[in-house]
Amino acid sequence: MTAPTDQPTEAGCLFCRIVAGEVPAALVHETPHTVAFRDIDPQAPSHVLVIPRRHVPDVGALADVSAEELAELVRATAEVARMEGLDGGYRSVYNTGPDAQQSVFHAHVHVLGGRAMTWPPG
Ligand code: AMP
Repeated sequence: MTAPTDQPTEAGCLFCRIVAGEVPAALVHETPHTVAFRDIDPQAPSHVLVIPRRHVPDVGALADVSAEELAELVRATAEVARMEGLDGGYRSVYNTGPDAQQSVFHAHVHVLGGRAMTWPPG
């Protein structure tokens, strides 16, 4: 898998390296601007990360540079949920910043499903 040459990457970014195929990941879905792969530490029976190929630190930054790519990310999220058979529902999580425990500063959506969720989240 190779990122289109016009997609900004950041040296040392783990998710940029997954997009570039330099770090292995269990891929489940790809579009021109997004890649989806299984979370290495799943928090639900189905736990997939959907990321933009472009390096931006969070989804707010993605919206600032390209509403079209943000929309593609959201569509890919819905498609992943469909492919995973999450007919009973799923949760999309965008952890943003340290208080939300964001640990990888390349925008990503957690798509979690396959079990009943609780609210409020922890
Ligand atoms: P966050 O804490 O919201 O920034 O989410 C980052 C997610 O990336 C965590 O759920 C990690 O388990 C996941 N993660 C870290 N390294 C990898 C990897 N090599 N492959 C797949 N998922 C990863």
